[in-house]
Amino acid sequence: MTTPRAAAIYARISSDPGATHAGVERQLTDCRKKAEALGWGIGGEYVDNDLSAYSGKHRPEYARMMTDLADGLLDAVVVYNLDRLTRRPSELETFHDAIQAAGVAHVQFVTGEANMLTDDGLLQTRILGAFAAKESANISRRVRRKVEEVAAQGRPHGGARPFGYEDDKIGIRETEAGVYRQLVARFLAGESTRSLANWLNDQGIPTVTGKTWTTTTIKGMLINPRYVGLRAHRGTVVGRAVWEPLITDEDHRRILAKFAAKKTSGRRVPQRYLLSGMLRCGKCGNTLFSSARTERGKTTRRYVCSSGPDHGGCGKLTIAAAPVEDLIANFVLYRLDTPELADTLAGRSSADARTQELTTALDADTQQLEDLALAYANRDISMREWMTAKKPITQRLEATQRQLAAVTRTSALTGIVGDGAELRRTWDTLNLGRQNAIVAALVDRLTIGPGQPGARAVDPHRISVQWRH
Ligand SMILES: [Zn+2]
Repeated sequence: MTTPRAAAIYARISSDPGATHAGVERQLTDCRKKAEALGWGIGGEYVDNDLSAYSGKHRPEYARMMTDLADGLLDAVVVYNLDRLTRRPSELETFHDAIQAAGVAHVQFVTGEANMLTDDGLLQTRILGAFAAKESANISRRVRRKVEEVAAQGRPHGGARPFGYEDDKIGIRETEAGVYRQLVARFLAGESTRSLANWLNDQGIPTVTGKTWTTTTIKGMLINPRYVGLRAHRGTVVGRAVWEPLITDEDHRRILAKFAAKKTSGRRVPQRYLLSGMLRCGKCGNTLFSSARTERGKTTRRYVCSSGPDHGGCGKLTIAAAPVEDLIANFVLYRLDTPELADTLAGRSSADARTQELTTALDADTQQLEDLALAYANRDISMREWMTAKKPITQRLEATQRQLAAVTRTSALTGIVGDGAELRRTWDTLNLGRQNAIVAALVDRLTIGPGQPGARAVDPHRISVQWRH
């Protein structure tokens, strides 16, 4: 056997917690010493940093070394020990075959005398390889246990820096902490997550990842138990955290209760405008939102396509509310007098009993959710128990709400079909909820087309009506 003139030195550091680049430097130094002691020349150094040989992630430098070996640029390999080279037995066999095919006769570990290319050496290497594989499995188990241990001790782990805290996730970043407390105060005072997202975006305060705020990120942050100094692991609070809270337990419970109440009572939110939720933008298809604008002391109600957070509309369409509401009311009243509508609805009028049944079910489920929230607030159950118990009830509730909505649409018309003339006389005296129910019972969708800039009156041709059938 000739003395190698161009040995490859291979070093790798895995992503074990606490690993540092120094580990690679030490491996390289030891490999260079070993090559020098053996009288081998060095042909190249190959270093993969922060990659695990066990996970099977691609190792670019390892691949480059194998190519250089196959190309005959190298005639030996020096590596600190076997598990720097590979921790998977199948990869060890592949390595062995590739080395033999390349005619390389020397593979040397810094630790141990084994040259893996002799029969004895190969057997020993295989045993070591099998052992290393097992050891790696133990390591990933250890890492997993470590994560759980860290959680149980209330220390932070992984992921992006939480808003309000420093990079160590423990120290408080006062500027952001102040913003968080303001958010909580404004939310508890009744401000919507949408308005809060707008506020932060308008202030030019970014999220920790530099993105703009949405109602989802606002809600996620408001309900996060970290802000009362609790450590959660896989969605469950596992205990007190090592960091300081930003808000009180009391405020946290009030936030959770507010979100819980909002979810179950969504159907009771009063309709502000007759056509809320029914109009679509003719330019982009998004739902139009009601908005009021005050100019020179005079307030005009409008429906607008909003490009704000969450909405993603084109933001380029606006229509005055009052004239479009008048027009639609007239369409609807006319429609009520058409004979085909009476026919369509004939089979669906026995809705009252069903409505009663659904309303009772809805009230029972809502009550149960309120009881659960109370049990949590009184510390009778844990947050995990609360979440688990809530899920099936919430699902049932949502299904009931959908059925109720369908039934209510039809029953809104009970007794008024075929009597548009009478309704026309009393329309203005009906409350908004009743008017809205009648329109929603008849109209599936209203699309508003673009208008002439500066036009005073609403052009009826801008409105296209899709009736329910
Ligand atoms: Zn639009």
